[in-house]
Amino acid sequence: MPDGRSRVLTGTGVSPGTGVGPVARVAGAVPEPPATPHGGTPDEVRAQREAAAAALRAVAADLEERGARAAEAGRTEARDVLGAQAMMARDPMLAESVDSRIAEGATAARAVYEAFGVYREMLAGAGEYLAARVGDLDDVRDRAVARLLGVPMPGVPERDEPFVLVARDLAPADTAVLDPRKVVAFVTEEGGPTSHTAILARAMGVPAVVACPGCADLADGTRVLVDGTAGTVRIDPAEAEVDAARRASAARTAALAETRGPGATKDGRPVPLLANVGGPADLAAALEAGAEGVGLYRTEFLFLDRSHPPSDAEQQAAYRAVLEAFPRGRVVVRVLDAGADKPLAFLPPPSGEPNPALGERGLRMLRRHPEVLAGQLRALARAAEGLTARLEVMAPMVTDVTEARAFAAACAEAGIDHPGVMIEVPAAALRAGDLAREVEFFSIGTNDLTQYACAADRQVGALSHLQDPWQPAVLDLVSLAAEAAADAGRGCGVCGEAAADPALACVLVGLGATSLSMSAPALPPVRAALARHTFAECRRAAVAARSAATAEQARA
Ligand code: PEP
Ligand code: MG
Repeated sequence: MPDGRSRVLTGTGVSPGTGVGPVARVAGAVPEPPATPHGGTPDEVRAQREAAAAALRAVAADLEERGARAAEAGRTEARDVLGAQAMMARDPMLAESVDSRIAEGATAARAVYEAFGVYREMLAGAGEYLAARVGDLDDVRDRAVARLLGVPMPGVPERDEPFVLVARDLAPADTAVLDPRKVVAFVTEEGGPTSHTAILARAMGVPAVVACPGCADLADGTRVLVDGTAGTVRIDPAEAEVDAARRASAARTAALAETRGPGATKDGRPVPLLANVGGPADLAAALEAGAEGVGLYRTEFLFLDRSHPPSDAEQQAAYRAVLEAFPRGRVVVRVLDAGADKPLAFLPPPSGEPNPALGERGLRMLRRHPEVLAGQLRALARAAEGLTARLEVMAPMVTDVTEARAFAAACAEAGIDHPGVMIEVPAAALRAGDLAREVEFFSIGTNDLTQYACAADRQVGALSHLQDPWQPAVLDLVSLAAEAAADAGRGCGVCGEAAADPALACVLVGLGATSLSMSAPALPPVRAALARHTFAECRRAAVAARSAATAEQARA
């Protein structure tokens, strides 16, 4: 960047706070090594063979070491996957195939690439379970090829010191392996305010800026100051700027820590404030922030790195831990929301879907695999046995009354007493009155509802202005769903990221939301905002926001 010009990149701030540290970039794809042959002398053959063997040994050792660390952290499934990958790298038949390719003239990198290719085809054609391992095999290949070509390793970087993670975009499976103590901020070029990078950052309490053009050009090691409230990334900041940012952030945190107790408006109308969690690891933060229960348990987050469905016992343990944490609260569990931005290897969508966000995801996928839904509901019912928490179970991506009825029937069959549906599809909001007759409660997923109402893919950074739940059209749909729920005497919560915006939270209550659920760090500011406004003020704000013509005007 030329001297004298601003050294600040601007994007969309999606998780508040400031973080400072060196950039560590998620490397892009590892290139295919060129097919140009090596020199062909016996010395060259020996050298290439040694290089290939050393690269494969190093990859195996690295995977084993990461597996051991995963095991120490209690992530036994991750250890098993890493162990299986290490075995692929140590496979003697693979080594033989590499050697013979090198003897025929291929370079070490090319020979490794081609030898893995043969296995890849065998796996891809060997049934659903083995086909799901192709990604693991590709990862081993890319690691070995990256070493041989001297290019950065694919995937999330590993560092001893805390760093700012910079990426084009992050897949849920990448973020699942992040060590929260190491990441001081996220910056991505793609992704909107409701992308999973944003959701994960908020859940981890890590500042984040998404849709930030130019960030991918930052060199590894560059020191940056990320302001997740303002949406800025300051390059090589002065110490005074870092100090000022840290002081402002500490002051905000201290002020918020003073609000406690159940959520309520200033005039005492209760608005239960619940936590969004992705598994037992999120419970401590939820309890610490004073969550009154769980409003969204994203169960698919437990199984992102799985190539086969989790066992009944494993599921029960993960559900029970969450139910036990809130003995007097509600725990709203969402059944697996697989597909689109949250692919699960053991529930692959039909191949060749041109538009996964409009394809077989959520409940649509579970209706294709009824045994998976029945197994999950059974595990949930058993997990709740003997516990005092109120278990409520809801389905994602419900479109019409037929789906709602089928889900309620599956719940009844499994002995689940409180079935609900998420309102994420505009059709469901428009016909919420029909749905309210089938289930006990609604939970509005404003992330997807905004994506579908505004036809703006939540993964696409350039559309982040349209992924704005302040869009009056989205507020209209929320209002329709909340009114239909009220008419039928049903609860209507909001569990999308809209609930985490303190001003919008007040508007949602004014529109008729009966509870709000959000990632733990958002609970104190939302509790404080509600405590400052009466219900009548919330209603007036809701009317004003809905009568605005644009998202900006509604927010103002
Ligand atoms: C939503 O769509 O608002 C929601 C809460 O679900 P997810 O973000 O997991 O798709
Ligand atoms: Mg959703």
